[in-house]
Amino acid sequence: MIENLLFPDINETPEDIISKYPRRNPLTVVTRIAPSPTGFLHIWAVYSAMLDKIIAYKNNWVFFLRIEDTDQKREVEWAAHKYVDILKQFWLIFDEGPVGEDYKDVWNYWPYTQSQRENIYKVFIKDLVKKWLAYPCFLTEQEITQTREIQEASKLPTGIYKEYSPWRFATDDEIIKALDEKKEFVIRLKSKWEISRKIDLLDIIKWRITSWENFLDIVICKSTGIPTYHFAHLIDDYLMWTTHVIRWDEWFASLPLHLELFNMMSWQAPKYAHYWPLVKLDWNGKRKLSKRKDPEADVEYYFKAWYLIESILDFLSNIINSGFEDWRKQNLNTSYLDYDFKFEKINTAWALVDMDKLNWVNSVIIKNMETDKLYEKFIRYLENYDVDLLSKLSYYPEEYNKRILGELKTKIRKFDEFNENSFFFYTDSNIPTHEMLLNEKMKITDLDTVNKALNIAIDILKSRTSDFESINDVKDIFVEKIIEADMKNGQVLWPVRCALSGELFSPWALELIYILWIEKSINRIEKVLKYI
Ligand code: GLU
Repeated sequence: MIENLLFPDINETPEDIISKYPRRNPLTVVTRIAPSPTGFLHIWAVYSAMLDKIIAYKNNWVFFLRIEDTDQKREVEWAAHKYVDILKQFWLIFDEGPVGEDYKDVWNYWPYTQSQRENIYKVFIKDLVKKWLAYPCFLTEQEITQTREIQEASKLPTGIYKEYSPWRFATDDEIIKALDEKKEFVIRLKSKWEISRKIDLLDIIKWRITSWENFLDIVICKSTGIPTYHFAHLIDDYLMWTTHVIRWDEWFASLPLHLELFNMMSWQAPKYAHYWPLVKLDWNGKRKLSKRKDPEADVEYYFKAWYLIESILDFLSNIINSGFEDWRKQNLNTSYLDYDFKFEKINTAWALVDMDKLNWVNSVIIKNMETDKLYEKFIRYLENYDVDLLSKLSYYPEEYNKRILGELKTKIRKFDEFNENSFFFYTDSNIPTHEMLLNEKMKITDLDTVNKALNIAIDILKSRTSDFESINDVKDIFVEKIIEADMKNGQVLWPVRCALSGELFSPWALELIYILWIEKSINRIEKVLKYI
């Protein structure tokens, strides 16, 4: 009867709801990620989704997305849509979830967004109240604080439980009176488990850990009528038939409670895997990647700095199992999912987000990627993150830009380094000083030598009727002419390189000539010849 006063509008029964969520094939592995749309997508979400995919990959499987937006104070509009778009870029394609056209739900276990499931939760909460397994609690903040102080003074565990929860024992009349007085209330679980008993927690990553049972009457429904994560995940993972819950370590401490909740419902709990949080090194040692402090916690940070999706996946794979790196060397063009990941080998020490490592992984992938494919990705990156550079490039033939990228791909670690390493290809006015053209070590001690060297280059270039086919093509003719002139390679190539790039550090002369093509090379060298 109390339940009807608490939830007068709820008429369905748990059986009505359960019948709408038919059991899946028991052999199917069902995993999900369940991010809360609170702003940017944390890199852990990608990591977490990868673990889901890995565990499901070799099985008959379903992978779905659920948006956990019950904390409406922290919710950011459109964040959920952004998450879907970002995860798609990682080829983390969901079978189910709000992933259809216009982010509509796909498949039958909908709605996949918790805020649309409020009435479902209420049906179950109402039923628990009816069965005396949950109860309304009208304790005020002040009363809760007082209880804690008393417990602390007696060195007892703190919280609302058993004899410290007066509303657990309230009569119907007392509850009706409190409701009449419009007192605010929450719904609490009536824990049956014991403070002094231990329970074995099984975890796919941590194996077996013995812990205390839950004994707290935790809140399952807030005063706003919205359930807490603990309760919502219980209902959702049951109704959606999730077989494996993979989530970060922060939730491990709640596992006894979650097991009690499943036990109370007489439902089989899913298998759990709690992975270590991603950490970074700072002055005080290792600490969790923080949404507030660390730009690299945000997936978009990696996009903006132009790390390839392939690199991020490989980088995270290596964090999951450190043996991945060696395997990758032998298996360059396959998906990370083909590696035989071992969950029990997920190593705490390796959950380190080490940007130097990522730079290295990215540079290897860039270097090994076919230039045409890389160029396509590069242009897409510029469209999103650097339209100025894109418009600069658009004044030049595509073939020219590709040659530059093809050359730089062996030198840069990520694409935001493209500009600083290539600007001299896009400006003809970068003229070197006299000092730059001279180089004692290379035995270029006067401008006459410079003059001679540049003229050798001009003669070669002017004698050509077509562009060079390859860098070797450039090299052969230069070597021949340098020997003829009785000079040293460096004596000619240093000034030529400086004249072409206007820089002390740049690709070497023969590469520059190959990339710049003959006409541009002649113009740049002649410009320098005029003022020395
Ligand atoms: N919404 C929860 C979080 O963001 C998800 C935990 C889970 O995967 O169950 O931490």
